[in-house]
Amino acid sequence: MRRNTTIFRLNTSHLRSLFQQLAAEDYKNLGPVARDGAVMLETLSSFDDMPTGCTEKHDKGQYRLRQGDDGSLFQYTLGPQSFKKFLHPPRRKLWEARGTRQSFEITLQEDIPPKMAFWGVRGCDLEAIKIQDRIFLQGTVVNDWYRQAREQLFIIATGCTRPAGNCFCTSMKTGPMPGDDFDLSLVEVKDADGWFYLTECRSTKALELAQKLDFPPAGTDEVTEAAMAIQEADDKMTVRLDPTEAALTLKNNLEHRHWDNVAERCLSCANCTMVCPTCFCTTTEDITDITGNHTERWLTWDSCFNGDYSFIHGGKIRQTTRSRYRQWMTHKLSTWHDQFGTSGCVGCGRCITWCPVGIDITEELLAIQENQKRKEQEFA
Ligand code: SF4
Ligand code: SF4
Repeated sequence: MRRNTTIFRLNTSHLRSLFQQLAAEDYKNLGPVARDGAVMLETLSSFDDMPTGCTEKHDKGQYRLRQGDDGSLFQYTLGPQSFKKFLHPPRRKLWEARGTRQSFEITLQEDIPPKMAFWGVRGCDLEAIKIQDRIFLQGTVVNDWYRQAREQLFIIATGCTRPAGNCFCTSMKTGPMPGDDFDLSLVEVKDADGWFYLTECRSTKALELAQKLDFPPAGTDEVTEAAMAIQEADDKMTVRLDPTEAALTLKNNLEHRHWDNVAERCLSCANCTMVCPTCFCTTTEDITDITGNHTERWLTWDSCFNGDYSFIHGGKIRQTTRSRYRQWMTHKLSTWHDQFGTSGCVGCGRCITWCPVGIDITEELLAIQENQKRKEQEFA
């Protein structure tokens, strides 16, 4: 049997050792836990915090977590949160100022991000991190906090063998197998001996850990089994769209009447932007205490669905839900290409699952595309 030195066959105890080794090297282990009926991403105080045996059911505006007893670790798919919350926190203090009788003093918040290890990063979320890198690291202004967090990050990516009902990573070419830019990847597969983890080490750090923890190499059979599990996941995904066609359709249909149809359903609640792993917009809030001697400036996530988001020079540019939804969807699927050279959507399906009225970005696109095709046929 052929042996490959960067591909290993791990079991749960190897992963437990990896967890403990990372903790011993001062990494903060961050990953999935089952809480409040969903898989959430939190600090893992122990390896046993992981959502063992959990699976999920996703539908439009619906999510159900099921507790099983098969001992799996990664058979859930995606909860409402992405790893964005650790690299680009929803709220972060920038500075505070204290007044004295004659003057005031400003103190910058100079906290240093911890060394983080992310567990269970799916292909879509891995691509979302790369998209956020473009925004925070590769623009004209570099976000220093993000840069420090990113430089020390250890990523344990996970291939999906059980895609959720709203996933379309295959269309967006982001999954079900994570692409690149991870340290170590796992595919959880079951054979006669139970669950095993086909593991690939990409970074020098991951290879050092593999050597230190004496990871056993995988054989060809295990590599084949994992590849088949990923292919089956790929085949199961029913939601499909063509990103190039999507970008063009939206650009050509800015005044389509379907935007009114969506606006009748959309609550402008901003849930879709809060769960989206690529949305990056922020605003600042100033908080002053009752004495007037102490003030703080906080950076917080914002959303293009919020009324004040488009407030410029005394007025709101996007006053209607129609214009806000159109802005959000055309940015994700179309104008993002012009701005960043890639789609702004990684196909995670979270915006579909967590929309309270079940609005589905892929179906709204399809409605416009079909209507356009009908019109083209009529005039042909
Ligand atoms: S737009 Fe929706 S499907 Fe696309 S990345 Fe954002 S949340 Fe996921
Ligand atoms: S599309 Fe859904 S989640 Fe997004 S703002 Fe509208 S109602 Fe809220």
